[in-house]
Amino acid sequence: MEEEVHGIVIVGGGICGLATALALHRKGIPSLVLEKSETLRTAGGSIGVHVNGWRVLEQLGIAPELRETADIVTEFHDVWPQEQGDKRVVVPVRGELRWLKRKDLIETMAKNIPSGAIRFGCHIAEIHPANPENHGAVLTTVEGSIIRAKALIGCDGSNSVVAKYLGLSPPRSTSRMLLRGVTRYPHGHPFGPHFLRLRCKGLFVGRSPMTDNLVSFFVAFWHPGADSTKDARAMKAFVLEKLKDQCSDEIIEMVRDPDPESLIVLTRIWYRPPWQVMFSSFRRGTATVAGDAMHVMGSYIGQGGSAALEDALVLARSLSRAAAGGRELREEKIGAAMGAYVRERRLRVVRLSLESFAMGTLLATKSLLTKLACFAIVTLLGTNSLGHTEYDCGRL
Ligand SMILES: Cc1cc2nc3c(=O)[nH]c(=O)nc-3n(C[C@H](O)[C@H](O)[C@H](O)COP(=O)(O)OP(=O)(O)OC[C@H]3O[C@@H](n4cnc5c(N)ncnc54)[C@H](O)[C@@H]3O)c2cc1C
Repeated sequence: MEEEVHGIVIVGGGICGLATALALHRKGIPSLVLEKSETLRTAGGSIGVHVNGWRVLEQLGIAPELRETADIVTEFHDVWPQEQGDKRVVVPVRGELRWLKRKDLIETMAKNIPSGAIRFGCHIAEIHPANPENHGAVLTTVEGSIIRAKALIGCDGSNSVVAKYLGLSPPRSTSRMLLRGVTRYPHGHPFGPHFLRLRCKGLFVGRSPMTDNLVSFFVAFWHPGADSTKDARAMKAFVLEKLKDQCSDEIIEMVRDPDPESLIVLTRIWYRPPWQVMFSSFRRGTATVAGDAMHVMGSYIGQGGSAALEDALVLARSLSRAAAGGRELREEKIGAAMGAYVRERRLRVVRLSLESFAMGTLLATKSLLTKLACFAIVTLLGTNSLGHTEYDCGRL
């Protein structure tokens, strides 16, 4: 069976894997990204990137190009429909927030990575240590090919084979339904630069402008067949029925007429509980994880993607410090650099996981005591005023 040997190998070519490869490339360090899909995975509609994510995109050199693709969002409007008139709270956005097309983000990162540094159709099935010191790893693809890596970075999402190799517990999930889509307004939408968070009975609707003509939305809800259906059209019909008596026509029209290919339904929200993020060992020799593989956190505070970008920058900076002086990266130095990366990221990702966990629990629980505890956490951490977006992970 064929066997290859490489330096830094990144498993997963999503937001985190591509950002890590690009950040390493900017520091003059080559890497190889192994992606199981046959092409770039550009599906998934839109992603909100807050100022902490934009700081990273700036360091990666792709912020100006991406700014051209999406408008700025200036306020969150939290609305509770009530018979005697809606209750509305306006929260100003801190710094820059734009809703990007995931496709634009992924494609812009990929085109700035040297050709040949992303290998598609390469599905890693198993990983073993290369030696008893865990210096290096041996990766086996589903076809049985062997790839030896001096350093291994797992950016392979919530169901990560690298996380399994590190001995991490599998992430947990809740059975909440989420319908997402992007709706086109050929003559322009009337919503201004505002993100709407509408709390209806049994439904939570989010709506964000992307450009003058495009609006991204999601509806979170509970459905009795939560685990059995992924039929987006059936779920759309179910949601529209629920929205009929509670929401304005403009919300109903937005959910009724999205671009068909943008409509997706999720039946499970994956998350790593904050205590796991706090105490797990995210390094084994010269292997580590980043992005959702490290700290998948659901979509409650919209920070999974930006946190993955931060991970990429900090990891690449740490590895480049270890390589400073142009000497070849030795295994002990790689291990130490990965250790420094994990230490630097730990408290940041614990905070984000805790905020997301508390927000998710607040929406789902019926227990008054649990509600109070979660409310205390989000108040203390300033979740609703978006305090977490102020974080600056520094220069590359
Ligand atoms: C509904 C929803 C809404 C969200 N909204 C936001 C938002 O507004 N803002 C925000 O910042 N975040 C948001 N997030 C979170 C964000 O999408 C994720 O945190 C982010 O995509 C994580 O990127 P990643 O690269 O770590 O993982 P992924 O995007 O999951 O990428 C993992 C990649 O690894 C590949 N892969 C997996 N296993 C293997 C293998 N064994 N071998 C080879 N390749 C493999 C996969 O094909 C994939 O390409 C949202 C998430 C959800 C579910």
